[in-house]
Amino acid sequence: MGATVSSADAAVLGVSMMSVPLTVQDRCDRCSAQAYVRVMMSASGLEMLFCGHHFEQNSAALAGCSVVVTDDRQSLRLSAS
Ligand SMILES: [Zn+2]
Repeated sequence: MGATVSSADAAVLGVSMMSVPLTVQDRCDRCSAQAYVRVMMSASGLEMLFCGHHFEQNSAALAGCSVVVTDDRQSLRLSAS
């Protein structure tokens, strides 16, 4: 149900993915947990970082905007398995 913005969605939007990986120093703007998703507003260049939880909460709103999304949650899953 919850709409997620994946790298595939970013490709559909016609934007290029940023190659700089998120690190443990990158923190969610909402709760200061480690950030796994970076969102950049194409118009303003404003960058936001989200943990998986808060990205889920904001993804619906972000889906209507022109944004560049870097989603590193897959690396979280890989390292956990
Ligand atoms: Zn958070």
